[in-house]
Amino acid sequence: MRKKIVAGNWKMNHDLSETESFLGDFKKQLFPEDVSIMIAPSFTHLFHAFQSLKEHPVQVVAQNMHEEDSGAYTGEVSGKMLKSVGVSTVILGHSERRTIFGESHEVLKKKVDAALKNEMNVIFCVGESLEDRKNTNQEEVVKKQLEASIFHLDSSLMEHIIIAYEPIWAIGTGETATPEQAQEMHRFIRNTIREKYSDAIADSIQILYGGSVKPDNAKTIFSQEDVDGGLIGGASLKVESFMQIVNAASHKKE
Ligand code: PEP
Repeated sequence: MRKKIVAGNWKMNHDLSETESFLGDFKKQLFPEDVSIMIAPSFTHLFHAFQSLKEHPVQVVAQNMHEEDSGAYTGEVSGKMLKSVGVSTVILGHSERRTIFGESHEVLKKKVDAALKNEMNVIFCVGESLEDRKNTNQEEVVKKQLEASIFHLDSSLMEHIIIAYEPIWAIGTGETATPEQAQEMHRFIRNTIREKYSDAIADSIQILYGGSVKPDNAKTIFSQEDVDGGLIGGASLKVESFMQIVNAASHKKE
């Protein structure tokens, strides 16, 4: 059975004192054992968060990285650097990186390779725009994103990949995909992976949903057959709402 994951993507939120206050409160929580919990603070707080959460079952994740290990890339942070501060998973291909910072399929492919070379896991984000959905192009768009940046990987590396389906029209908008829309796309992604790789890989890969997941809709979305948890933006910034979502992913709590 695939273990559920709930990952909080803080984006460019929480300064040091806000991060400390979150972590102080967060560490006191009772974490369900059947959910993998991850938080992705900004680069500046990764080391601090890693140190602070060392004794707790929470992974500290990066929101992005550069594809080279070192060099003249002012302002960038490499996978090698992330690894050295205790980060073992990185989010790549978030729609904000694709649209605001112009990250192409080719760049993302290089970033995926660099993350794997540095023995990190990747949460690879895919998702269509509102226009794509209106034109019923969502499956084509998502398939292309997978083919262009992930499907060059050898099957032995696929265990390090987690997919996050994040329809752009649902991110930070308060508009969520219906559980049926999420399930339909997750099933499509799993079957696309099945066609390219194998039943074993398709059945074990974890596919997260992201896009305005909140405490009141998390349980219904997470209960869909092919939804293995969530990538959470806004609602991950407060301990209370994040923990409600974490608990919604657990089979042990109502
Ligand atoms: C995200 O940015 O990955 C996200 C899903 O954001 P939100 O939950 O705020 O829609």
